Amino acid sequence: MTTILRDADADPELLSGQQIAVVGYGNQGRAQALNLRDSGCSVVIGNIRDAAHEAAERDGFRVLPIAEASAAADVVMLLIPDEVMPPVYAEHVAPGLSPGNLLVFASGYNVAFGLIEPAPELDVALIAPRMIGLGVRDGYLDGRGFPSFVGVHRDATGRARERMLALARALGSTRAGCIEMSLHDEASLDLFTEQGFGPAFGRVLISAIEVLVEAGYPPEAVLLELYLSGELAYSLEKAREVGMVRQMDFHSHTSQYGSLTRGARFLEHAEPLKRSMRQILDEIRSGRFAEEWSGQQPRASELFAALRRARDAQPIAKWDEEARRRLRIGAAAGD
Ligand code: NDP
Repeated sequence: MTTILRDADADPELLSGQQIAVVGYGNQGRAQALNLRDSGCSVVIGNIRDAAHEAAERDGFRVLPIAEASAAADVVMLLIPDEVMPPVYAEHVAPGLSPGNLLVFASGYNVAFGLIEPAPELDVALIAPRMIGLGVRDGYLDGRGFPSFVGVHRDATGRARERMLALARALGSTRAGCIEMSLHDEASLDLFTEQGFGPAFGRVLISAIEVLVEAGYPPEAVLLELYLSGELAYSLEKAREVGMVRQMDFHSHTSQYGSLTRGARFLEHAEPLKRSMRQILDEIRSGRFAEEWSGQQPRASELFAALRRARDAQPIAKWDEEARRRLRIGAAAGD
């Protein structure tokens, strides 16, 4: 059984006297830098000169160019977008690092698929929050913390794991619990959720919308029924709190009976679905996906831009925008 690492597994004293550079001040960078500072760590921000730079200064941090911040630190946390990380690492971070420095990634992607190969004399670790940046900060402030996948890629000093756990504790993550794994496993799980689960779930949702709109129900009512009311999100939250099976008891008997009897009809679709999922997992684990996305730039980004245009032109995008505007939900609220 997997061990869940908690505060008691980490020694915060290991960070005393250590200078931490947080490279990037975006979703994760801001949240992690604030958490570390509130835990008593010495934090400097490395950022290019722009809006995020100004935000970090407004928050009271010392902000340096990325190369200077990295060179001044014992611990460097790389919190810039994965796709820009390899050249930024090679040009601005790597040259300033010294033997025994700890390099921390929030996603295993670049190391797992060979896009960044840190020098052998560095400690290299992963602290990958299972949470968006806002949740990383909110979890720290409300005391619940946030879960992460953590792992050591290279232990040059013999203390990489303890240093990683001390950082995870200072971030507020061991409070909620961390699971240890390789960077390749973390990246594979993450990519699978994005590619093997998300789109399959989305396809079911779109199919249901199409069936109901074709049957003559107004798109606004269909979208409200399926997800705009918030009931789906609320049920998923309850599933997290009380369990996927137990949350069914919160629904009416008619709902439970209908779902249990009709659910069986979809079993025949499970095997083809799993076949596609296994193919996707195989592409991810073999590195073929990383080769396609990162290895074939800028062609992959051109394809990405075209796919996004096609996605935004689908009827559901218009129905969704219109329904949210008329129902006064979220950013599209009005009229
Ligand atoms: P963001 O997109 O929020 O990062 C923005 C930061 O990166 C800003 O400071 C930005 O500077 C800087 N940046 C952008 N482009 C460049 C560039 N070319 N050169 C130098 N700096 C640049 O990233 P995230 O916080 O979303 O992701 C950071 C890491 O955290 C990634 O490894 C990601 O996989 C991981 N992660 C993200 C999660 C999330 O929920 N977002 C969850 C878990 C892990 P500026 O804005 O000033 O241009």
